[in-house]
Amino acid sequence: MILDPLLSPIDILGLTRDEFLDRALAFGAKRPRALAIYRAAFRDGVALEPWVTLRRPPIVNSHVEGNTIKFVQRHDDGLETESVLIPMFGRAGQMTRTLCVSSQIGCAMGCRFCETAQMGLMRNLDAAAIVAQWFGATHDVGERPKNIVFMGMGEPMDNLDSVLQALRVLCDHDGAAMAASNIAVSTVGRVDGIRRYGDFVRQRGFHRANLAVSLNAPNDEIRGSIMPINRKHGMAELREAMLSFPLRPKAAICVEYVLIPGVNDALDHCDELCAYLKGIRCSLNVIPYNPRRDSPWRAPTEDEVSAFMARAIENGQFVKRRQTKGRSVMGACGQLGNPHIRRRKFVDLGVPGRDSGHATQTDRAAPGCNDEHGGDSCR
Ligand code: SF4
Repeated sequence: MILDPLLSPIDILGLTRDEFLDRALAFGAKRPRALAIYRAAFRDGVALEPWVTLRRPPIVNSHVEGNTIKFVQRHDDGLETESVLIPMFGRAGQMTRTLCVSSQIGCAMGCRFCETAQMGLMRNLDAAAIVAQWFGATHDVGERPKNIVFMGMGEPMDNLDSVLQALRVLCDHDGAAMAASNIAVSTVGRVDGIRRYGDFVRQRGFHRANLAVSLNAPNDEIRGSIMPINRKHGMAELREAMLSFPLRPKAAICVEYVLIPGVNDALDHCDELCAYLKGIRCSLNVIPYNPRRDSPWRAPTEDEVSAFMARAIENGQFVKRRQTKGRSVMGACGQLGNPHIRRRKFVDLGVPGRDSGHATQTDRAAPGCNDEHGGDSCR
């Protein structure tokens, strides 16, 4: 049966070039034209033919704090996806942006320090909706990200089929053309997901993609008290999964550690953590806790953060500190999904369009897990 392409246009955003070509050729398009359509869709943000669509949720709100931009896309069912563009500064001072994307609306993992956990899981995003966040940042906000981190709402390993398809699309040379080395997928410690993602990373074209693990505790007792996933996958099992993850030479797993005063910030905790990490090629990324709504904990002081990091260095652990960004837009670590954001007055960026009107004040660089990707996250 020949479909009428005008009645059911091809939705490009969730498709790799080859998947699109298959469908376009079936519609009777010539290959060179179909290729031009695919490239124009991702590179220029335009649909060249009426039988293709670039269907993405409209940006309904956006907010700027310094150079950090948070934007909200509203889906057909009324649910919203939140994404954050985070500024990164290179050695020469040039600014690039890291896009923190969501893989789910809400999250089922229930981490006690996390704002998104308060929402529960509403639903998964499909690959097109994940890619739509890149598209929205690039063509609607007008800020093409250099890096992408899957550290927004949701646990990527809980929705891995869609996440992997999104990676295929984002890394397609004829499309978004993201470098796999500039992409990091973060997990709360779904060991099965780490193994599957490892298999994916072994494939040609993806072997430079990065893994981040949200660890946040030096031992099972503390981890289990703030992260329910630890009851299913304990730290020993998680350590095995990290050790077996395929790392390219000189690459490192980003181990995220949200520093929460009175919970996991003692110097003894640091010693125990460093012992746990010994033998794992990793960068410890210390993230000062951003108190969520009704948080039982406060943010750590500068002295507390410095003391913890100094102790990690004494232990021979490579460590970086994440600058907290976007706190006032609730786009900082662990703050996506705050319902208050929807009641605030947002800065009108004039989207869709390219004139973002972003503030240009300088901001300090956030350290990444390695020099190749931003490694910043929204958790
Ligand atoms: S920290 Fe991540 S995995 Fe945990 S509840 Fe929040 S979004 Fe989910």
